[in-house]
Amino acid sequence: MSWRFVFAVPVILLGLAPNEALAFCRSTTCVGEDCTRDENGCKTSGQPLYWPSSCIGISLQQDSSVHIAFKYFEQVAQRSMLTWTGLECEGGPASIGFSQLDNIACKQTEYNSGGTNANVILFQDTKWVYKGIDNTLAKTTVTFNDDTGEILDADIEINHANNNFTISDMVIEYDLEAVLTHEMGHLIGLDHTPDVSATMFAGYEPGSNDQRTLEEDDILAACEVYSASRSAPCTPEPRGGLGNECGGEANAVDEGGVGGCTNCSQSSSTGAAAWLAPLVLCGFAGARRLRRSRNVVRATKGDG
Ligand SMILES: [Zn+2]
Repeated sequence: MSWRFVFAVPVILLGLAPNEALAFCRSTTCVGEDCTRDENGCKTSGQPLYWPSSCIGISLQQDSSVHIAFKYFEQVAQRSMLTWTGLECEGGPASIGFSQLDNIACKQTEYNSGGTNANVILFQDTKWVYKGIDNTLAKTTVTFNDDTGEILDADIEINHANNNFTISDMVIEYDLEAVLTHEMGHLIGLDHTPDVSATMFAGYEPGSNDQRTLEEDDILAACEVYSASRSAPCTPEPRGGLGNECGGEANAVDEGGVGGCTNCSQSSSTGAAAWLAPLVLCGFAGARRLRRSRNVVRATKGDG
C-alpha cells in the first residue's frame, strides 16, 4: 500500500457553547424498525458506530464515471474528505481525518473478513440494483462489529444511472461534492440529524451546493465521536490490507486477528426516493441482511 495523499489539517473555528442544544444523531449497531429513539429521532439502542483509527484510508474506483473524468472525481472526493478533516473541537482538532490510498479496480461494495479490503468511492453508471429507491443519489454501506460498534469497512456508491451529477460551481444539478460530503458523514458513523440546516440532514435540494460545507451541528457530531482527547492511532490501511481486486485476496491475517470479524453486520445509508417532488432524499436504511429499507421523508432543506 502506498499513501497517495495525506490530507493537511485545516482549522475550522467555531464558538461553541458548551451546553449547546444537540440535534445530531449517531448511527448505531441497531438496524431495522425496532430500534428505540429519543426525542430527536436518534437511535438510543445499539452501540454507536466509530472508526478506531484517526485517519481512514479511502480509495477511488479507477474507472470514475463515463460522465466525469477521473481527475475531477478525484478533486471533488478530496474536497469532501478535507471538509471533514481537522475540525476544531473543544481541546483541539477532531481525531478523524482521511488518507487517500491507491485507486482500485474492484467496482462493488464488499467486506472480506479474511482478506484484503478497500474503503471505496465508486460510481454506478448503468444500473442501480437497489429496489425501491431508484432515484437514490448515493448509498453508503458500513460494515461494523456488532458488539462494539467499531467500523470495519465503508463504501460509497454514487447513483449516476438515475441521476445527473455535476461538478461545476455555475451549473448545478445534483452536486457531486455536496452529496459526497453528506455520504462521508455516514461513512464516519453519523446518522441523519433533524437540524434542517445541517449537511447531515436527510435531504438534498437539486441545484444546491449548500451541503459542500459543514454546519455547526455536523461539527458537533464529529467532535462527539472523535474528540481531540481520544487516543487513536493513524492507521489508514484497510482491514487485511488494501485490495485492488474484488473478493479480497487471502493474506496472512487469520479470522481471529486484526482482519477477522466474528460478529459483523452491514448497514446501509441510502438516498430515499423523494416523497415530495422534486426533492431527493437520503435516508439511513435498514441492514442489508434484513432486506428492507426505511425511507425518510423530509421537506426542502432550509424551508423547515
Ligand atoms: Zn444520508
